[in-house]
Amino acid sequence: MIIKPRIRGFICTTAHPVGCAAHVNEQIAYVQSKGPIASDIKKVLVIGSSGGYGLSSRIVAGFGCGAATLGVSFEKVPRENKTGTAGWYNNIAYEQAAQGAGLYAVTLDGDAFSDEMKDRVVETTRAGMGKIDLVIYSLASPVRQHPKTGKLHRSAIKPLGEAVQMKSLHVERGEVHQVDLEPADEEETANTVAVMGGEDWEFWIEALKDADVLADGFRTLAFTYIGSDLTWPIYWHATLGKAKEDLDRAAGVISAFLEDLNGEARVAVLKAVVTQASSAIPVVPLYASLLFRVMKDKGLHEEVVQHIQRLFATQLASGVTQRLDDQGRIRMDDIELTDEIQGEVRRRWPLVDTDNLEELADLEGFRRDFLKIFGFGFASVDYEEDLDPTLGRDV
Ligand code: NAD
Repeated sequence: MIIKPRIRGFICTTAHPVGCAAHVNEQIAYVQSKGPIASDIKKVLVIGSSGGYGLSSRIVAGFGCGAATLGVSFEKVPRENKTGTAGWYNNIAYEQAAQGAGLYAVTLDGDAFSDEMKDRVVETTRAGMGKIDLVIYSLASPVRQHPKTGKLHRSAIKPLGEAVQMKSLHVERGEVHQVDLEPADEEETANTVAVMGGEDWEFWIEALKDADVLADGFRTLAFTYIGSDLTWPIYWHATLGKAKEDLDRAAGVISAFLEDLNGEARVAVLKAVVTQASSAIPVVPLYASLLFRVMKDKGLHEEVVQHIQRLFATQLASGVTQRLDDQGRIRMDDIELTDEIQGEVRRRWPLVDTDNLEELADLEGFRRDFLKIFGFGFASVDYEEDLDPTLGRDV
């Protein structure tokens, strides 16, 4: 099969196996170029390990800290004439590279929200990896089947209170337009909190602690986004923000029950980047395109893996002083939120339109990052090659 990108709105329905491996290996090479990170992080569970921030966390834990990693993600397997998800290829590429470097790496494919997956992780930990010292919780999902009630919760990406009209970007067409965003009702808000809030994170750490597979001094991090007032109507002050506030609540609860292990849970506030999850949020692609242009022009831009390498090296390594806010969150969005950067993005916001998009924003960079998620756009890859999308595996 000759594999080309097939884009439908904000997703690409194909993924290139060789390109995905190139993407993983490019990130590994970056982490190696930065040298080892001195830390006591040696056994890491990454929940949501196959893409975006979770994949980079796994790469930095493995290739920066020398850690054994256990990954959990939810993938579509390939067929003879249909590609798998990018995450399916990323997991294989990571495992191959890690095993080549003598690093333990196992990936479990299935629903992280289920009790069954938590049991599988416990078993795997007991059978091979040993007690976990760091859990990275990096899930981004539109749905969650609740393990206790069986109810299927669907998140809604909507404002709260009143309808808002905002500028947005149609990435494929390269058009700036206005979107009308209807407010969420109470049920939609509660469902979004059920999917993207902190309850499942609590369930995970409880299950792992009850099974006695957490090491003394154990830490766990969940990722959040706050951003600036430009995106607040659809993010921080909206349904997603409510879910993210719930992570802050959960961090307190989890830290309290980790006390006897000298453990702690923290939320880390990360910068806006292009991932499958962020591409689906209205307004964010326009904000991110403007942000990238401004950050690149000032030499301050970070790709996903660069950001996570900085997180581990400056906030999780041995002997560092963490940059915490008044809620106890680790702030990695310090560069994105400087007055220098936000002032310039805010100046451009009312000016940007379809005609000046290339000049004021980095649409090309956004599109390039988006295609890379699915393994497209790598100079080293022959995109005319006829490939078996199953990679010869029995799927
Ligand atoms: P992503 O879409 O790139 O990755 C999501 C991961 O979750 C994938 O590995 C996917 O397989 C996994 N997943 C989804 N549903 C699952 C399920 N039911 N069971 C098992 N695995 C499942 O997303 P991302 O942007 O890297 O987001 C990760 C976290 O980072 C989220 O909490 C997000 O809010 C946060 N964050 C993202 C940004 C951004 O700009 N992308 C910024 C700050 C914080």
